[in-house]
Parts: sequence; structure tokens; C-alpha cells
Amino acid sequence: MKITYSTNKKQKPEFSNLGFGKYFTDHMLVMDYKDGKWQEIQILPYQDFSIDPSTNILHYGQGIFEGMKAYKNKNGKITMFRSYDNLKRMNNSAKRLCMPEIDIDEVFEGIKKLIQIDSDWIPTQSGASLYVRPAMIAFDKMLGVHPAHEYRFFVILSPVGSYYANGLAPTKIMIEENFVRAAIGGTGEVKCMGNYAASLLAGEIASQKGYDQVLWLDAAEKKYVEEVGAMNIFFVIDGIVKTPKLVGSILPGITRDSAIKVLKDNGYEVQETRISVEEILQAQEEGKLDEAFGCGTAAVISPVGVLGYGGKDIIINNNQMGPVASFLYDTITGIQYGKIEDKYNWLIAIN
Ligand SMILES: *Cc1c(COP(=O)(O)O)cnc(C)c1O
Repeated sequence: MKITYSTNKKQKPEFSNLGFGKYFTDHMLVMDYKDGKWQEIQILPYQDFSIDPSTNILHYGQGIFEGMKAYKNKNGKITMFRSYDNLKRMNNSAKRLCMPEIDIDEVFEGIKKLIQIDSDWIPTQSGASLYVRPAMIAFDKMLGVHPAHEYRFFVILSPVGSYYANGLAPTKIMIEENFVRAAIGGTGEVKCMGNYAASLLAGEIASQKGYDQVLWLDAAEKKYVEEVGAMNIFFVIDGIVKTPKLVGSILPGITRDSAIKVLKDNGYEVQETRISVEEILQAQEEGKLDEAFGCGTAAVISPVGVLGYGGKDIIINNNQMGPVASFLYDTITGIQYGKIEDKYNWLIAIN
């Protein structure tokens, strides 16, 4: 690992008003792939890349990313949450996009060092953390449509506040009946860059109609729910917690997996199953739709208060965060911030 320290430190933003992904720390990690192998990890002052206009990523989107968080508690102890799982998932994404896999242990050591160097950028107020963004892009200068021979892997760090401007207030979600996010056999189950570009238009139209995000349905029948925006979705129907089964078009979220484990361990019945819109509407009519919430690293848990479908809105749990969502939020963030015992060994010490 080669480290070049910044001699020109940035002015830090106001930590009480960070928003999401707007500020970046003083250093970044870069590792290039050439001649059939990964080169030495470099930690460098945060800076622009110089990219030839023909560089493959700019044309065909052969690019993947991850998102994870580092937390600092009151005693200055820094931890990350299940980050090896993120790097494993990144290697799955790499395989799907014909990109080279990274050495997880070596890369994690690099990320750890990067976070240690920029540790005074980690905010400590409630809900805040250091968002860690690894990404990998095709770096060949050529316009042929085939896998690149050169790649750049990099990691940038961003101090973030709570994901939603209005905190944990329930969101208003529109069930998307026209556009689809992912089809089985496509790239929906990996974190590749193009998935997000392709999902923007539906989100924009929903936003014009007054909704925060869309609830995606399966591509084949547009009958079964899959994800909410870029989060996994859970419903509580008649006391049973249900989340869509990982059928090949759904991103296997680490928060989703954590939520399932925490719930099962605490006596909840959890079903990974197909959930139709019809089942949700019927449950609502019978007064059995207890809760709905999204989950992901950025927001952790995001309750759904209103669900729009076919021009009508249904209100869930009086547009309040429900007990299952609250329990999960408190438990998962409690573990992340070191307030609740980490009996799953999810935390990784950084300092
Ligand atoms: C990243 C992501 C999630 C959440 O995954 P986590 O590992 O929990 O952060 C869910 N759905 C999509 C489409 C995503 O990109």
C-alpha cells in the first residue's frame, strides 16, 4: 500500500447539516487493474481523475459500486457494519459484468487505513455516519463492445447525516405499473451502475405526482412487489412479516438480511415469499395491512405511510411508523452505534 498524504486539508462542512453524499473527505483509495492483475493500493489526496473521452465506462457503463458505513461512538471507537459482505457482493457484481474480482482482505485493509487517515471526518451525532463508496469502472480507451482489459477500483468517503431530510417520517410510495427495474436474467440482483440510471425516470414521474419513490413490480407479470426505489421492501400482514423472495431480479440487501435475522431471533414469523399487489390491497381492505417499510444501508429503515395504486392512495398504519419498523430501526442502529450488544458479530473494528 502506498500512501500520499494531503498537504492541503479541506474545510469541513457543518456536521449538523450534512445531507447525503454532498461532501468528501481529504483522501481516497485507488487501485488499478492492468496486465491481468491488480496493482498496488494507493491512498491519495482526494482529486479528479483524468479520463480519455474514449474510456469504456463513459460509453457502455461497465461499472459497479457498493455502499457501506463507518460509525464512531462517543469514545472515539470506529466500527463498520458487515462490510466483508459488501465486498463479497461487489465480487458477485464484478462476475456478472465481466470485471475482475478484488482480494477482499487486501482491499478491506486499504479501506480501514483510508478511514483511519480521515477519521476526524466521521460525524458522531445521532443518525450520522461516514458513507463509504467503493466503485469499479472499465478503464480501457476503446470503443469496441467487449469486456475491458483495464479497470480502476476506487473508494471515496462522505460524511452523511440522516438519509431523509424529514428523518423517519413515513414516505409516500407509488406502485409503478409501467416501468420495470429489473427482469430475471438481467442485472437487478447486482449493484451495477446502469440499474440506477434506468430507474430515474419512474422516480421523476412519481415525484411530479407527489410521491417520494416507486414500488417496483416484477417485470414478467407486473403482479408481485420487488423493491422500493433502491431499497428492499417488507410488509407486515396480519402479524406476519413478509419480504419478497430473492428470485433473481432483487438486490440481496445486507440490511434486508440483518432485518430477517433480528426479527426471527426475536420471535417474529418472517416469510420470504412472493407478495402480490392483490394480496396487499386485500389485506388493507380487511384491516390486516399492519405496516410497510423499506430497508437499505443509506436509510436503514424507511416506513411507508401511503401507497398509491391505480390512481388511489391507501394509508398504512395511520401514516405512522409501526412497531416492527421501529423495533428494527432501534435494534439495527443500536448495534451499529454500539448501544446494543452485537451478538451476531456484525461489527468490524477499524481503530
Ligand atoms: C443497495 C441496494 C439495496 C440495499 O442493500 P443494502 O446492502 O441493505 O444497502 C436494495 N436494493 C437496491 C436496488 C440496492 O441498490
